[in-house]
Amino acid sequence: MPYAYDDDNIFAKILRDEIPNDTVMETEHTLAFRDIRPQAKTHVLVIPKGKYVNHDHFCLEASEAEIVDFNRVAGQVCAALELQPTEGAGGYRVISNAGGDAGQEVPHYHIHILGGGSLGPMLS
Ligand code: 5GP
Repeated sequence: MPYAYDDDNIFAKILRDEIPNDTVMETEHTLAFRDIRPQAKTHVLVIPKGKYVNHDHFCLEASEAEIVDFNRVAGQVCAALELQPTEGAGGYRVISNAGGDAGQEVPHYHIHILGGGSLGPMLS
């Protein structure tokens, strides 16, 4: 059972408004908010409102509307926070941890968008 969803995870509680968040953008299917422990000057998490555990679960099981909306929000966050690279300068990183080997802490699918300054090498 790879995709058993835990309704008590912290992002589920955020989606139910049981704990506060610093929202950057919200649509019918997607929420983007700032990470509580930022690892870059700008660190935003983008999550679907549907109950998906990780990246492959979302990509395989979400509706096309959810997938399109999620990716549009991710792009709009980059644009709204002026993270888009221009002429070789600026830029950002998108990461999603899935499962224990990747160190996934919260079992509700999310991507990290990191930017706002030099990020250093991805793998260390
Ligand atoms: P993961 O390791 O699962 O890819 O990342 C989970 C992220 O969620 C971490 O960067 C962590 O700082 C963030 N996080 C954990 N709890 C909360 C919370 O209550 N609010 C917010 N905004 N971020 C959280």
